[in-house]
Amino acid sequence: MAEFKKTPLIGRLVVVGLGLIGGSFAKGIKESGLCREVIGVDRNPDTRRQAVELGVVDRCEEHLANACLGADVVQLAVPILAMEKVLEELSTLDLGQAVLTDVGSAKGNVARAAQRAFVGRPLRFVPGHPIAGSEKSGVTAANSKLFRRHKVILTPFDAIDEQALVLIDKLWRALDADVEYMSIEHHDEVLAATSHLPHLLAFTLVESLAKRSENLEIFRYAAGGFRDFTRIAGSDPVMWHDIFLANREAVLHTLDTFRDDLDALRQAVVTEDGHQLLGVFTRARAAREHFGKILARRAYVDPMQTKDLTYIASPGGSLSGRIRVPGDKSISHRSIMLGSLAEGTTEVEGFLEGEDALATLQAFRDMGVVIEGPNQGRVTIHGVGLNGLKPPPGPLYLGNSGTSMRLLSGLLAAQPFDTTLTGDASLSKRPMNRVAKPLREMGAVIETAEEGRPPLIIRGGQSLKGIHYDMPMASAQVKSCLLLAGLYAKGETSVTEPAPTRDHTERMLRGFGYPVSVEGSTAKVSSGHRLTATHIEVPADISSAAFFLVAGSIAENSELVLEHVGINPTRTGVIDILRLMGADITSENQREVGGEPVADLRVRSAPLTGIEIPEELVPLAIDEFPVLFVAATCAKGRTVLRGAEELRVKESDRIQVMADGLKILGVQAEPTPDGIVIEGGPMGGGEVESHGDHRIAMAFSVASLRASAPIRIHDCANVATSFPTFLSLAAQAGIRVKEEAIA
Ligand code: NAP
Repeated sequence: MAEFKKTPLIGRLVVVGLGLIGGSFAKGIKESGLCREVIGVDRNPDTRRQAVELGVVDRCEEHLANACLGADVVQLAVPILAMEKVLEELSTLDLGQAVLTDVGSAKGNVARAAQRAFVGRPLRFVPGHPIAGSEKSGVTAANSKLFRRHKVILTPFDAIDEQALVLIDKLWRALDADVEYMSIEHHDEVLAATSHLPHLLAFTLVESLAKRSENLEIFRYAAGGFRDFTRIAGSDPVMWHDIFLANREAVLHTLDTFRDDLDALRQAVVTEDGHQLLGVFTRARAAREHFGKILARRAYVDPMQTKDLTYIASPGGSLSGRIRVPGDKSISHRSIMLGSLAEGTTEVEGFLEGEDALATLQAFRDMGVVIEGPNQGRVTIHGVGLNGLKPPPGPLYLGNSGTSMRLLSGLLAAQPFDTTLTGDASLSKRPMNRVAKPLREMGAVIETAEEGRPPLIIRGGQSLKGIHYDMPMASAQVKSCLLLAGLYAKGETSVTEPAPTRDHTERMLRGFGYPVSVEGSTAKVSSGHRLTATHIEVPADISSAAFFLVAGSIAENSELVLEHVGINPTRTGVIDILRLMGADITSENQREVGGEPVADLRVRSAPLTGIEIPEELVPLAIDEFPVLFVAATCAKGRTVLRGAEELRVKESDRIQVMADGLKILGVQAEPTPDGIVIEGGPMGGGEVESHGDHRIAMAFSVASLRASAPIRIHDCANVATSFPTFLSLAAQAGIRVKEEAIA
């Protein structure tokens, strides 16, 4: 607000209707100093008097004509059904260049009333709706901060002039509101669903129970659930009466859809269809949790800050103790996919509750699979069989997860229905032709955006045929995608990889009883078999453990045990590379769990030496390079990486971003087209950018153990996607990194 103070933008603001909303708007603008004079109009003389006494307005007028003379902006804040009358009266006045705007809770009827009233006359009207309220009402409840960090939706007509729009936008922003834009129709539909329908249900439920019970005693037995659900039935009945009449069409539409859903649920109770009930409840719960997170973010975190969650890593420290890092991401993804396509109920333990694996889980829920949890890493999947998926209600949103998008595209290519796969800004830049191209060879019909980027539109109803595919790049995602498509393709599908890649898909398919043959570097599946539900214990993720393997090696006087880590030979490149550099890593208590080898890894500090990283190890450690670059920095001599161009198309260009950050810390790090050359040496502190790449954020956190000054790491919010407990485990083990406190 301060930036606007004492620089008036307009001369006269008129606010018509000095209740909670009009009073709050008037008071806020008056305090902002954006406007020379704020005049209130209200039909009630007491309200007019109080408005002046309370400092809500500079003065009041009884009649619109007097107030609007020479006005720059007229804000209509009367009850929604009174808008029409006020607009008619305004249309008879000479408004000059005044811009009209309003705060009505429904927009269609106000917009139509304005057009009717001003037919044949110029109309400078910007409809608006602040999503803010209070239990209190009337001018005495006016609060200049009511709209702070609340959304205000403006629904401008196409023909509105830019200046008018900018002016209204600025006024709301001066009150610290978050201004958004929508079409009138969309606004009314969204509000009908998210605000009007819930009020209707709350009012009906309370009334329905109250009128059927002999007296109101029944409510003595009502617990917190009833109280929470019906809180909004305490809202102003007159205002809600107005809103339902004003937004009649959109309310009826959303009510009809809801009635259909309620009928379906009733039918499930009648037929004792527990599967259907559980499906609705688990999906609803997941949606509610998602919504809860959005609310929490909105309430506690300044939206300006969410983009730049900054870590501060203090120099020094040594590691000790035993920790268990979260479950393997690759295996978590696959457990949901295969569990969903299996026959029977699959129980998963140790599931990684990060956003990526949750995106896969949500995608299968959207395709009708009932999935319970996750609850402390436990997930129960009620498999639907290979042909049991249902068309999702809309596009499948896969967040930041490339694994979800690439693997899903394989199995969706063979479904009888169309699907659209979308993701966040970062995923939307990642190459998908590497899967689209071979899938098309199998007969899939896939459309992509420019240069093969998401969204992917996958046309259903195609019959796929098995192919042999020689992968041009070593990619477990491409291999897995084709093998999953192969479960549906006529004949045999085989994939040959140029270098070994993760084989979790092959192992897990076998775990679900599906035959897979692997000969040398070629994996093969044929259609015509079934997946049978099983129990999966997800090992701890070696990619997450890698940060601590490097940390324990480079920090002085350290000895740390990482428990139950998956040591699938296609993933242990990081251990091999670190050992070649001289790291002291031993594996204890080796065992096999669900087809995947696991062990406890003990790491002790050791002097590291720079090496030429053997190219055959590169695909086996592809995700671990950011932190391996930190190991290289702490090693004596030069480390050279080649054959890793893949790193340039990960969540960020990991070679460039790491080189930039290391240089800031005073390290000699020279990127090459397919790798990097790093000279070991001392590290200072400084400010580095992670570019939203979780692994880079964590790698620089580890670097602080050997830095001589603090490292500030920007843009770390995505760490939650792969390693939600990173900061707490880091603190437990001895790395001094934490989120920078928001001022
Ligand atoms: P409110 O507290 O009832 O205030 C409305 C004020 O307008 C009252 O002082 C009323 O006077 C006065 N008024 C009524 N007809 C008038 C007329 N023809 N000319 C001049 N003044 C007149 O209502 P509110 O909660 O502020 O709501 C106002 C508008 O904001 C509504 O359109 C509503 O849809 C919208 N809105 C409300 C909320 C909310 O949560 N409250 C949120 C967003 C948007 P009397 O007291 O004499 O009737």
